[in-house]
Amino acid sequence: MKTNEGVYMSELHYYREIDSEAWESDVVNSDRPVVVDFYSDECPPCDALAPKFSSLAALWHKDVNFVKIFRQQNRPLAEKLGVRGSPTVLFFNNGTETGNRLSGGIRRSDLLRNLEAMVPVERAETIRCAQTPVRSSCDVLVIGAGPAGLTAGMYTGQAKLKTVIVDTGLSGGNVATTHQVGNFPGFSKPVPGWQLAHNMTEHAKTAGCLFREAVDVTAFDPERREVVLDGVETVSARYVVIATGNSPRPIGIPGEKEYKGKGISYCATCDGKYYEGKEVVVIGGGNSALEESLFLSTYASKLTLIHRRGQFRADKGIQEKVRTVSNIESLMSHQPTAFIRREDGRMQVELVSTEDGTSKTIVTDGVFVFAGMMTNLPPGTEKLARDEFGAVLGNEDMESNIPDIYIAGDARAKRYRQITTAVNDGTAAAMAITRRHYG
Ligand code: NAP
Repeated sequence: MKTNEGVYMSELHYYREIDSEAWESDVVNSDRPVVVDFYSDECPPCDALAPKFSSLAALWHKDVNFVKIFRQQNRPLAEKLGVRGSPTVLFFNNGTETGNRLSGGIRRSDLLRNLEAMVPVERAETIRCAQTPVRSSCDVLVIGAGPAGLTAGMYTGQAKLKTVIVDTGLSGGNVATTHQVGNFPGFSKPVPGWQLAHNMTEHAKTAGCLFREAVDVTAFDPERREVVLDGVETVSARYVVIATGNSPRPIGIPGEKEYKGKGISYCATCDGKYYEGKEVVVIGGGNSALEESLFLSTYASKLTLIHRRGQFRADKGIQEKVRTVSNIESLMSHQPTAFIRREDGRMQVELVSTEDGTSKTIVTDGVFVFAGMMTNLPPGTEKLARDEFGAVLGNEDMESNIPDIYIAGDARAKRYRQITTAVNDGTAAAMAITRRHYG
């Protein structure tokens, strides 16, 4: 059933809210497959999941039981099941947990994949076909909920333009996983990245923006200014702001893809805690590599910072700080050539000297790669004019070469990429849109 905002959400509840006492009867002894959502309040990812869970329950309730449990009031059960965060979704068939547990920014497509695995193939196909597409429209569609997109949304929302902000993950962008932000005006003490991201999100919500988080952008047509989300919801807009930012660039050597998430990480905030008292290697010589090394050195017993040149690219101030940390050792002029996972579970980093070509091997517990970033763009954006690095060209009003499509933030071709410059782009795009809209 469609709400007046076009969210694919059921007003009737096709799921049951239970507590620990009903766990055995409703989940373990159920004669039908069961999907269980452990949720919490004041939990943005739980809020992002709720409409997807409801809409899938409406579609699948004849075949699968949908159950929700409030984690904070059912802690012993959650702990017994090893559920440590909200939301966490579990799938049960004949009393046994099946499929993959899902947590964090859960996409509709991840839920669907697990649901489809619990029923016969033909039945899954029938249910898929029964899905009713939903359509809605807005004044401004913002693709990307990082600082640029959230700022654009805040301004257009305040200007009373109906604004929808879409993100394939959770709101906040790269800032949300940045340990500390020390250069955002107004915060003389470093502010945790998640806090800044949260405040920006709340500000955009207060301005009236509607959010679609952790959705798949199935298709995007810049000429029609129309986006299809999760294959079911089409949102069309008068103006579109693309603020999809960038993501970590892999260094492209053997073993990197295979061991991503299994010994190789691109996010110190997300994974640093798993290396308490362990040895880690950091690759890169820019601000990110050195700043994240400072953070990782608070967990690791020893950190080896490997850079391919004889000098770091990072700002001098950060370089000086790194030099004062006793458990950080720098290995200059070495290029990684392969990552190998050893039988004992440790990672082996193969290196070659960029000065004399000699080889070297380092064995470590984990590897963190900070080799710069690459532009993220939604599908269908091939006609957008770009620079030689793939970033989208925009003018002072952030207009791209396609009418009514604006580009803001790190995905825009520019020299400086900071939270402050992303905020600038979002502001300029929103002001240009507002001026055009109201004449
Ligand atoms: P970056 O400045 O582009 O640095 C990337 C580093 O990775 C460089 O040292 C580069 O080596 C190395 N690298 C690239 N490809 C490699 C490969 N294939 N193998 C080995 N090493 C490789 O990227 P970043 O550190 O992520 O920073 C991106 C932008 O964000 C910068 O503008 C930076 O100033 C900004 N930033 C700002 C802050 C802050 O203000 N607090 C914090 C983090 C980042 P070379 O030096 O040899 O090219």
